[in-house]
Amino acid sequence: MQTVHTREELAQLDAQDPLRRFKNRFALPESVIYLDGNSLGALPHGAAERAAQVVTAEWGQGLIRSWNEAGWFELPLVLGDKLGQLLGANPRETAITDTTSLNLFKALASALRTQKSDAPQRRVIITERDNFPTDIYIAEGLADLVNSLSQETGVPYEVKLIDDEASLRAALGDDTAVLALSHVNYRTGSMWDMNQITAAAHDAGALVIWDLAHAAGAVPVDLNGADADYAVGCTYKYLNGGPGSPAFIWVNARHHDRFWQPLSGWWSHNAPFEMAEHYTPANDVRRFMCGTQPVTSLAMIEVGLDIALEADMDAVRAASLELTDLFIELVETRCADHGLELVTPREHAQRGSHVSFRHEHGYEIMAALIARGVIGDYREPEVLRFGITPLYLSRTDIWDAVEILREILHTGDWQREEFTVRNAVT
Ligand SMILES: *Cc1c(COP(=O)(O)O)cnc(C)c1O
Repeated sequence: MQTVHTREELAQLDAQDPLRRFKNRFALPESVIYLDGNSLGALPHGAAERAAQVVTAEWGQGLIRSWNEAGWFELPLVLGDKLGQLLGANPRETAITDTTSLNLFKALASALRTQKSDAPQRRVIITERDNFPTDIYIAEGLADLVNSLSQETGVPYEVKLIDDEASLRAALGDDTAVLALSHVNYRTGSMWDMNQITAAAHDAGALVIWDLAHAAGAVPVDLNGADADYAVGCTYKYLNGGPGSPAFIWVNARHHDRFWQPLSGWWSHNAPFEMAEHYTPANDVRRFMCGTQPVTSLAMIEVGLDIALEADMDAVRAASLELTDLFIELVETRCADHGLELVTPREHAQRGSHVSFRHEHGYEIMAALIARGVIGDYREPEVLRFGITPLYLSRTDIWDAVEILREILHTGDWQREEFTVRNAVT
């Protein structure tokens, strides 16, 4: 591929790019280049109107009738099936509900319960040391719960952390109950080969849970193609669902009628409004829900989902790879000798849609960038993270962002006192 070196050439390529028409579907501030859509996606036009409709008409006028008449009750699965089209899911395998942390708890508990029946000696949950912290904490919390309540004096449940593919393959064994990995790593952007790793885990007798938080809407995913067991993920990142919008859970149909997940609230009951004395789980993915849904937030997700479905994931992926390549090339050429070290794999097959660089003054540099309207984020240790979202970022945005980074590094502007103050959320 020919390397493009001028802003003018990039602007010409942008002008011919069919994905450019999606930028005006989002309400982005004029003076901002937004490189954090991997953490909180942008506001799509129509989402505020959808929320207002839920509040004013459906709630205000419809009142409780709206659970039936406005389709509120069906939303988790209706939206789940829409999202499922991006994930290689079959109908009624995906629900949008709860948070990623909660959904992971439910998936892990269900997987352990299934293994307890099929292969009781399997007591190890394998996950990554470099995983998003909540994924490790939830696994630790579940292991602690089952161990503390167990009457047995046998082998306790345990969380084992792996560092790379070699240690993963070495760790998979007769004692492995479940492997829980993030498809795209939140910090480095590196991506596991879902097909190969799922097959390796299955060969070892383990079940597999994929956390798609940084993958859904960013890279093509085919859960049934990979024969995965469970998946969870966020809708507020690349799917542009809004701050704290409900997460999703996907469960391969072969696991639907096995065991309960322990957050067996009434929304997961087979007939919630029978108000039965005892629990009977639903026989599809509804079994993985818990209680009443946050309807306003849930309803808004549809706006971002419709845009994602319209855009075609393969085109988005191709653009993401082009823009991430461009970003890496420009930073390495125009910001050379300033101590930035790429931590994201260069191989296309091994990375998602964000690019991370390490710098010993990463926090201050990111704070200086944000002050100039280039919004990325910072992750310990010393990592500057830049999310590349082709629906609303162009080649010239990437050029302009790197120029501002170059100026900040060149002038030492990041050394100002104000940039050393740490915010609660980074
Ligand atoms: C963002 C993210 C989460 C967030 O979980 P919440 O329950 O929404 O706070 C979980 N896992 C991964 C891998 C993430 O990147």
